[in-house]
Amino acid sequence: TGDLMKGKKGLIMGVANSSSIAWGIASQLAAQGAELAFTYLGESLERRVRPLAESVGAKLLIPADVTDDASMDAAFAELEKTFGTIDFVVHSVAFANKDELKGSFVDNTTRDSFLLAMNISAFSFVDVSKRAAKLMPNGGSLITLTYLGSERVIPNYNTMGVAKAALEAATRYIARDLGPKNIRVNAISAGAMRTLSLAGISGGRGLHSKSARFSLIKEETSMEGVAGAALWLCSDLGRSTTGEVVHVDAGFHAVGLPEDIEG
Ligand code: NAD
Repeated sequence: TGDLMKGKKGLIMGVANSSSIAWGIASQLAAQGAELAFTYLGESLERRVRPLAESVGAKLLIPADVTDDASMDAAFAELEKTFGTIDFVVHSVAFANKDELKGSFVDNTTRDSFLLAMNISAFSFVDVSKRAAKLMPNGGSLITLTYLGSERVIPNYNTMGVAKAALEAATRYIARDLGPKNIRVNAISAGAMRTLSLAGISGGRGLHSKSARFSLIKEETSMEGVAGAALWLCSDLGRSTTGEVVHVDAGFHAVGLPEDIEG
């Protein structure tokens, strides 16, 4: 605990349960004195998210579906009513249909599923940034979560990899537009972690242990590491960093040829 986030207020989007990356980040920010609001997707998740939000003294807990303008309008209206202005947003939201997260990318990708993944996983950050900037007259920090499958081929990541590439490019363009307002915009490229989303990728369950084996630091990406990067970027420590994709993956992204493969 500490006071790196003292006096700062912000929104956490994407907690589904206690394994969610958004939750790991939220609890770290709260421990450093941040005041938090949470959005969750749909009533069925409220049961899981409410006790978590309450445990860190959240000021607001509201449903929001990033594909639905009316729900986003309502959520940001509530946010403005409660907080007036905000200092940061953590966007930790992504989705692709399960049947596309396996096998052949070129054969299995349909127009509708491709557009859905792009809408929820990439466009939503543009939309959230536009809404959040209106509540940030004193500047602020926006962060999103991405994965190496945007830069390199990760088997079965398919459509999501393409959506993450769009998300990372969007991060740079949003950073350009909001820079003059002193709003910083960055992405954290986290290594594979054991969450609900990972379980949706074919073979995803083995991805974290395989990645640990081939990483520079021989361990799985820790929630503490990811949350620590979020704390840096959301606090004033991150003052000069924007338009950046920060890898927090035990060095997996830097490996060209894994050393302990057979043959
Ligand atoms: P998670 O399933 O806990 O979180 C994903 C969240 O997205 C959920 O809370 C879900 O409700 C939300 N969501 C989906 N569709 C939505 C919609 N239409 N409107 C609003 N919210 C919606 O899994 P996670 O692993 O914590 O994922 C969080 C972020 O981290 C995602 O962007 C994911 O791609 C990214 N990420 C995950 C890993 C990993 O290995 N788990 C690695 C790198 C990046």
